[in-house]
Amino acid sequence: MIPSLHIKGGRVIDPSRGIDEVRDLFTERGIIVEKKPANVETVDATGKVVTPGLIDIHVHFREPGQSHKETIATGSRAAAAGGFTTVVCMPNTSPAADSTATIAWIQERAASKACVNVFCTGAITRGIAGEELAPIGALAAAGVVALTDDGHCIQNHGVMRRAVEYARQFGLPIMDHCQEATLSSDGVMNEGEWSTRLGLPGWPSLAEDLIVARNILLAEETGHPIHCQHISSARSVRLLREARKRGVPITAEACPHHIALTDEGLKTFDSNFKVNPPLRTAADINEIIAGIADGTITILASDHAPHATYEKEVELDRAPFGMLGLDTELALFLEILLHQRKAVTLPRIISMLTENPAKLLGLDRGTLAPGVPADITILDPDHSWTYDRDESPSLSRNTPFHGFQLRGRALKTIVGGKTVWDLENGFAV
Ligand SMILES: [Zn+2]
Repeated sequence: MIPSLHIKGGRVIDPSRGIDEVRDLFTERGIIVEKKPANVETVDATGKVVTPGLIDIHVHFREPGQSHKETIATGSRAAAAGGFTTVVCMPNTSPAADSTATIAWIQERAASKACVNVFCTGAITRGIAGEELAPIGALAAAGVVALTDDGHCIQNHGVMRRAVEYARQFGLPIMDHCQEATLSSDGVMNEGEWSTRLGLPGWPSLAEDLIVARNILLAEETGHPIHCQHISSARSVRLLREARKRGVPITAEACPHHIALTDEGLKTFDSNFKVNPPLRTAADINEIIAGIADGTITILASDHAPHATYEKEVELDRAPFGMLGLDTELALFLEILLHQRKAVTLPRIISMLTENPAKLLGLDRGTLAPGVPADITILDPDHSWTYDRDESPSLSRNTPFHGFQLRGRALKTIVGGKTVWDLENGFAV
């Protein structure tokens, strides 16, 4: 039984309809409705912000194959507690999500275990090996929302070009992890002053820039959208800015860690700072934030990448890349972009977490328009708190943000009209 809700007195920010005002919001049987239904439950949102349910288009939930790191159940709880009602899973599972059987398995698992909406991406190539195309038509029919070989950038430009042309036939956007492998080689951190001081192999920005340039040219050549994932380098932002000005269908996302931390973080050899692409410099951070402010980067995402403690507690060069993201994502974006840098307004941040990702992937989410599923986030952009990784619903603890003092937090997460998580009461199920 889904209750009808009257969300009362909040500042409703719905960028998809240009709304930013104090007003009431109603849901009935899990759908947003215009008029107040009978027998409503009242939710007092006075002094709070009410937005479309937040969307994160870049998460790793590790099922099938690595359920010791995260499961679809635990990952979805981390999403809900972070204010996210919809996530998009990357296909580098084990086996990779390169077949309809694996996609069906993930979808079934999500339907029975997840407390938020979980959408799948399909692999571009078989086994994410970069050589032979996956059955793209069949993956499209199975309901994947995009294609990506995230974690393993396709190096062969001929294969990538064919992939984009196939994807175009099925109307599926391509998302790409931009990393030229001969340049990044065995790099474990940003190539620069700190990699030299620490004596660690460097992963130069150039390796990202080169593939961003490749993707711009391919998007221009084919007229088909390509989305560059987790942009970390200043020059990538400049390339994207120039291309978007010319109308090339290229988009990009930024992750919280790439604007919160620099490569100096690795001076303690703490592998929780090891992420791919790596943390870079203050100059890169400034350009990424400028790109967010001027609309070059239109989507915010986490790259939530859980790893078990024993996997991370090894020498830096042997530790896997990646860090948790869903717990701290909203707070870090609000803290840095809104409070510290004053780079963008709150409605702009909300649009980069709702309307823009929904548009890129063609999801019927990211809006509070009457008639859509009632996915709603209630948040307080000023809520002060200290992040404690031991309170995370995730199965893993690999985060460099433990103990961070942050401003901004989700208070309530509503999926399809049901409250799944609430800061005061925790999880409903
Ligand atoms: Zn990636």
